[in-house]
Amino acid sequence: MKVMKFGGTSVGSAERMKNVANLVTESGQQRFLVLSAMSGTTNSLVEISNYLYKKNPEGANEVINRLEVKYMKTIEELYSSKEWKDNTKNFLKSEFDYLRSFTKELFTSFEEKSIVAQGEIMSTNMMTNYMKEQGKDVVLLSALDFMRTDKNAEPDPQYIKEKLVAIIENDPNQQIYITQGFICRNAYGEIDNLQRGGSDYTASLIGAAINAEEIQIWTDIDGMHNNDPRIVDKTTPVHRLCFEEAAELAYFGAKILHPTCVQPAKFSGIPVRLLNTMNPSAEGTTISNTSEKGKIKAVAAKDSITAIKIKSSRMLLATGFLRKVFEIFESYQTSIDMVCTSEVGVSMSIDDNSHVNEIVDELKKYGTVTIDNDMCIICVVGDLDWSNVGFETLATDAMKDIPVRMISYGGSNYNISFLIKAVDKKRALQSLSNLLFKNR
Ligand code: ASP
Ligand code: MG
Repeated sequence: MKVMKFGGTSVGSAERMKNVANLVTESGQQRFLVLSAMSGTTNSLVEISNYLYKKNPEGANEVINRLEVKYMKTIEELYSSKEWKDNTKNFLKSEFDYLRSFTKELFTSFEEKSIVAQGEIMSTNMMTNYMKEQGKDVVLLSALDFMRTDKNAEPDPQYIKEKLVAIIENDPNQQIYITQGFICRNAYGEIDNLQRGGSDYTASLIGAAINAEEIQIWTDIDGMHNNDPRIVDKTTPVHRLCFEEAAELAYFGAKILHPTCVQPAKFSGIPVRLLNTMNPSAEGTTISNTSEKGKIKAVAAKDSITAIKIKSSRMLLATGFLRKVFEIFESYQTSIDMVCTSEVGVSMSIDDNSHVNEIVDELKKYGTVTIDNDMCIICVVGDLDWSNVGFETLATDAMKDIPVRMISYGGSNYNISFLIKAVDKKRALQSLSNLLFKNR
């Protein structure tokens, strides 16, 4: 079975929902569908909770009313029969009554998670009813019956697998199973969620639990591009990536799945495909455990970086110098992205400036410290195993007219990183695209 996950914009209107229903049923094969809330809904629900928290029921009611108008309009456009319109309207009425009930009584923060969960509950009910009206063989499964986190607020894969497999075994011949992304119960049985954007995580957990043949993440772009299309001309989709390459790219700012979200798929060896609802026949990007050998795949950039250099004659022939330096960063919970060392100094980059003054102050005990602000990391990702001769030369060649502050290569087999000034970012990305991908 394939898992298909659709994000908020893909179910953001009646028209988009109909489109999704077509995509999911067109093959005639069994599919497991994971849906987000309609776009903007989770934000509105968070806003409602905030108003309630601030004891402002009028504010909450205003947002609830606005949301209700939008949903009722969607109902009118989505269903053709009075029966399904009424049916779904009644359901949504009970949803909005539920939200309004909090404006009349004392609100506790405990209920916030329940409020925020209603977005996915509404979108999945609407979609299920639409497919039923269309005569499709569909069943709605409540994620609250099988999606669970443990005492550390981490998903509990064993529990999820046992529960979900049993639920499907009970009803094994449905063509379409639908469930909510994002929402779950915690270790105490309370309604909770997998954090904002968590529907991708849901899809990956379900894929692993049912040993799916593929997990498809449907959005509005043709998969992952080989450079930032907002900055560089003529980027093209990358068709294949391994999970490590995808993780490097995600970390360095590419708009791609969060590494923790794909972890369950990676462990179970299930490929994750990024596909485009607006262009469903496009190949998209497949992320799997097999890497395409000997190829540079993509370039990404990470902004707002600060470089810190410490020079010290004490480092010469000393042991334990790096440990002392790193401990200072650790004590301020600041993680280091890039590191370059020489015999007389170390340079590091950080992306969190909140404790930079304290860190620099303490580093001064060990040497002379200099800082460069407004930097950016450019990261080249691919199969850069050292037996692939010449890749680092290609990358540095593209940077030949750009002042480079640090270079990091060899940390993994998958990336070369350059630290440059933010003002040079566009030029660097374009030059790398031109040279590496011949995107002239
Ligand atoms: N609806 C949730 C959010 O907006 C989860 C998701 O869409 O992935 O964060
Ligand atoms: Mg999303």
